[in-house]
Amino acid sequence: MQGSFDELVRRLGEISDVEKTAGLLGWDEETKMPPLGADARAEQRATLTRIAHELQTSPELGELLERLRGFEEEHDPESFEASVVRVARHDYEKAVRVPPSLRAERARSGSRGYRAWLEARRRDDYSILLPHLEHGLELLHEYIACFDSADDPYDVLLDDYEPGMKTAEVAEVFSRLKPELIALAASVQEPVDDSCLRGHFDAAAQRRFALSVLERWGMDDDAWRLDDTVHPFAGSLSPSDIRLTTNFHEENLVGLLSCMHEFGHGIYERQVDPAFFRTPLAHGVSSAFHESQSRLWENLVGRNLATWRFLYPELRDAFPQQFARVPLETFHRALNKVEPSLKRTDADEVTYSLHIILRFELEREMLAGTVALRDLPEAFDAKLEEYLGLRPRDDVEGVMQDVHWSDMSFGYFPTYALGNVISVQLWERAAADLGNPEEAFEQGEFGPLREWLGEHVHRWGRTFTPQELLERVTGSSLDPEPYLAYLRRKLEQLYGVSVG
Ligand code: ZN
Repeated sequence: MQGSFDELVRRLGEISDVEKTAGLLGWDEETKMPPLGADARAEQRATLTRIAHELQTSPELGELLERLRGFEEEHDPESFEASVVRVARHDYEKAVRVPPSLRAERARSGSRGYRAWLEARRRDDYSILLPHLEHGLELLHEYIACFDSADDPYDVLLDDYEPGMKTAEVAEVFSRLKPELIALAASVQEPVDDSCLRGHFDAAAQRRFALSVLERWGMDDDAWRLDDTVHPFAGSLSPSDIRLTTNFHEENLVGLLSCMHEFGHGIYERQVDPAFFRTPLAHGVSSAFHESQSRLWENLVGRNLATWRFLYPELRDAFPQQFARVPLETFHRALNKVEPSLKRTDADEVTYSLHIILRFELEREMLAGTVALRDLPEAFDAKLEEYLGLRPRDDVEGVMQDVHWSDMSFGYFPTYALGNVISVQLWERAAADLGNPEEAFEQGEFGPLREWLGEHVHRWGRTFTPQELLERVTGSSLDPEPYLAYLRRKLEQLYGVSVG
């Protein structure tokens, strides 16, 4: 049996190597590659993706997993051995359900959709994108048909990002959030002066300041890089090779906040148990959990007054002209301004999840056929107006603002809002365990929080399901109340308004 397990680990290691190499090509494409490299790169990535898929679905792998059923049962479910077999079997059983031809057609249709989306945005013409969405939706239905989805077809799509999560559970959390968030956003009447966050911020100075913050939080040159890109993201090649990317815009400090966000993704991968390297356990457990980590560092730490009591003098030194005469409290209020926006990516902590809820509702309606794709722009604008009181001027500002629907990646959006919910559930637990982490932040000490997250969340990788991990750490299932209470407290502190 041990021999079969060793053979399984060897095969999983190869799959991981191919996938990480494809990831490295993707990172290079977004950060370093000259534009004319694009055609060759597309072929190289397609080849590696195909090889990874062949390895993931090989009959030999299936036979090994079958042979290891007894071995799995002999080991403690939390052990490395049992966890590797269980997670590898989960991935294998999902992978073999989808015919390679459908997988390839979805990838092709996705990249055509992406190019059409760019063109449709350039011309503000949704009709350029529409046929690609229609084809993509047909493929989604074919994909769903590969699985048994007794309850809700959307479950299949959600499961790719949030294993085991049910659509009904998400819908219940969102139905609690929606009216509360609309009321919270409406309660903020007083305009906030955030002019101190606009001006000229030298990109090199921003980079120096961002690196000093991230190094204080736990980044180091031996295992991390920070590179420039257009749309920031984080990736990892191993727990000791973390790639963050950012985009420093000289007219604002958005790039700094995106560094804090991507750090949260990076530290998750950095603190996974090194023994999991080259196995399917060596990743964050789900998209929502990953997003909970980026949100925690961006919002609960990065927009926290205690953090800035420590960091603000350094920021003033970096940008004296901008901040010398701005009091800390003014800066902190500006950083936490609540104001409905048309663009999801510009949204504050209160209104962000409303952008997500409307997209989740529309994805379900598109799938059910209750919203026709040709009517999507109008349906999108109507919901945006209903929830946020704003109406887009055109489809570029409206339905075509996000890339996610160009390749019909349904099921992903909800994980952003679930990440917000989970981030506060984890934060409350951490704060209870650590005493008062904000006192440490004021002294520039972020290590205790980082280590707490490493110990309770990060090191486990995919050992537990997301639901098990949340229950284990917080003693509770997915619960929107801590997130709502946190937002209420924050608005009370910042604006003196009290709601609910
Ligand atoms: Zn993120």
